[in-house]
Amino acid sequence: RKPIGDLGRSGPPAQREPVGLHVDRAHSARMYDYLLGGKENFPADREAAERALAGFPHLRITARENRAFMHRAVRYLAEQAGIRQFLDIGTGIPTSQNLHEVAQAVSPEARVVYTDNDPIVLAHARALLTGSPSGRTAYLDADLHDVEAILTSAELRDTLDLSEPVALSVIAILHFFPDDQDPFGIVRALLDALPAGSYLTLTHATADFDPAADRQAAQAYRDRGIPMQLRRREEIARFFDGLELVDPGIQATHRWRPEGYAPTEVTDAQASIYGAVAVKK
Ligand code: SAH
Repeated sequence: RKPIGDLGRSGPPAQREPVGLHVDRAHSARMYDYLLGGKENFPADREAAERALAGFPHLRITARENRAFMHRAVRYLAEQAGIRQFLDIGTGIPTSQNLHEVAQAVSPEARVVYTDNDPIVLAHARALLTGSPSGRTAYLDADLHDVEAILTSAELRDTLDLSEPVALSVIAILHFFPDDQDPFGIVRALLDALPAGSYLTLTHATADFDPAADRQAAQAYRDRGIPMQLRRREEIARFFDGLELVDPGIQATHRWRPEGYAPTEVTDAQASIYGAVAVKK
């Protein structure tokens, strides 16, 4: 086990500029909000999202299916896997239903720590802190590059018991981490801090289904200064090395346990995001 100071750091935090509000620049959280029909976005975000939509017209479906996957995965974890603790990193701007609402509908005592590094998410975090009285939710303003800050935070330590299983979720965030930012090491470092019986829930954009269009969408992000790396299925599988995938494994989001939900009109190319849930043995 590595000393905690070495956990998943890619460069000292001091070298990393905190994310400012920068309403003149596109932000991934606000672009995603716009794609989902939200109101917490600015002209630069809408322009960037429209540019991505021009290359990849299904991006609203992609975002919606990603969110729907999160709902089904959390319901599975709370209902079938008996998970009562969640650590969600890259939470996004609150939009109904949020993770704690899904988890606490199954189990009111469920505890959730949300983490994001975007000030607009922080500004709206109150909407995430409306948990049931018997459960708990906390919001942590932190960067996924700094695993140590997340794991040692008072928000996490006061809310979660790391001797009991935790479901870590990194949903639609790791495609913003190119290989040189060590996304695999970061996820590994987080999982190393969680006990056996913990879960990893992950979604990730891919160009496997519609390479030309997906690449144009990714380029629209990169052109506006948001690093983006689409990954193939076998690359995404590396995040799950050493874990046991829950059925049906790594799937286009709309194909993952679609029970009680009818994604009939959605194609793999429209989804263009893989999702999976796995357990640490
Ligand atoms: N998980 C949500 C939101 C996805 S949008 C969902 O799938 O519905 C991606 C989110 O990741 C944004 O809110 C963005 O602010 C956040 N994010 C991007 N880079 C991050 C980083 N380095 N640290 C923490 N959060 C980050």
